[in-house]
Amino acid sequence: MKWHAAYAWLPDGLARDVSIEEREGKFSDVATGVVPGDHVRLAGLVVPGMANAHSHVFHRALRGRTSSSRGSFWTWRRQMYRLAARIDPEQLFLLARAAYAEMALAGITVLGEFHYLHHSPTGQPYDDPNIMGDALREAAAEVGVHLVLLDTCYLAGGLTAAGHEDLDPVQRRFSDGDVLRWASRVEALRPTHEMSVGAAIHSVRAVPQEFLGAVAEVAGNRPLHFHVSEQRAENEACEKFYGVTPVRLLRDSGVLGPTSTAVHATHLAGADTSDLAETKTAVCICPTTERDLGDGIGPARALADAGVSLCLGSDQNVTIDLLEEARALEMDERLATEKRGCFELGELIDAITVGGYRALGREGGRIEVGAPADLVAIRLDTVGTAGTEPSQALLAASAVDVDTVIVCGRTLISGGAHFLGDVGRLLAEAIDPLWSDE
Ligand SMILES: [Zn+2]
Repeated sequence: MKWHAAYAWLPDGLARDVSIEEREGKFSDVATGVVPGDHVRLAGLVVPGMANAHSHVFHRALRGRTSSSRGSFWTWRRQMYRLAARIDPEQLFLLARAAYAEMALAGITVLGEFHYLHHSPTGQPYDDPNIMGDALREAAAEVGVHLVLLDTCYLAGGLTAAGHEDLDPVQRRFSDGDVLRWASRVEALRPTHEMSVGAAIHSVRAVPQEFLGAVAEVAGNRPLHFHVSEQRAENEACEKFYGVTPVRLLRDSGVLGPTSTAVHATHLAGADTSDLAETKTAVCICPTTERDLGDGIGPARALADAGVSLCLGSDQNVTIDLLEEARALEMDERLATEKRGCFELGELIDAITVGGYRALGREGGRIEVGAPADLVAIRLDTVGTAGTEPSQALLAASAVDVDTVIVCGRTLISGGAHFLGDVGRLLAEAIDPLWSDE
């Protein structure tokens, strides 16, 4: 394939009249200042494929359903547990196929699924103990995006100053019971062309310290993600029970490192920032979820200044729009510091492209020779983007402005439509039956 872009975001910034060639799924030539010839012409501004580094896909069914009576944390959790208690493998497949198609429409080419909905609602493993993970793999394969399944170790119900709590009945389907059974189930997951396998620690609330190192060992060189310090209560319980912050506990247990990613890192304290930087641990911030849940604003600029690689995730999928996540990274920092211009545009683009690819253990996220041919074309003539300067358009654009999405040379989205058809209908058909008794 050979495409032409009037504007494209290349590793050293915005370029004009770019010819992009692909062979066997990878970029084989990228040249600037080229007059269009026998190229396929791409709309507007072309950027690398976007990586959604943190998703819990089943939460997509909660969108617009957790804010009755204004919506507290508890109304959210009650609805989440109701959903988690009922969804079966077929329903998960239908929901994931629709939500991953929604992600593709937003320009997402690779996604990290932080997967803990493992077993049957009673907590008994299914006959095929990886049937839920396989449902996610099949969904991603049908949609055409690359899935990084971050299979999550989840053993305890919570953490207080007195120690770990037993699992709530709903949480039983998240847990393998012990770390060895988690490890043997993960080892049975086979990577495929559409899916690679990584590991996750739900949090220091759900995995006691004596098991943290074992999870890191199973992860090996594969991506290892974990929620950390999303809310202050976690820090308080951890400091009271262990005498250290959650980040320090993870460092002391061998969890931090260059293939590790801390998700949220909202309430860092003490030496947490330098612990993350010194170990080359990445941080995934999820601004639309953190604002929805009232978590707070994380120290994104301070982390970047310390040399931490940032990436972004849609997390509970209340919004699926990485352009909005990138914009929120800057805008939240403005609100917190009362200053404009906290991040360079290039830093924001790196967070949703190459930074996310790296955190998910994938090559790419850049339009350069040898990288996977993943790209996104964003229209500059829509109601949202008309009149913008191409160099700043990404601060105005949204998921609805995505025109074309290509993964390893294959076109998933063309003219703003997915080849599966009406994604709104797929979402409704997957979600409505889950709430039919309400
Ligand atoms: Zn999460």
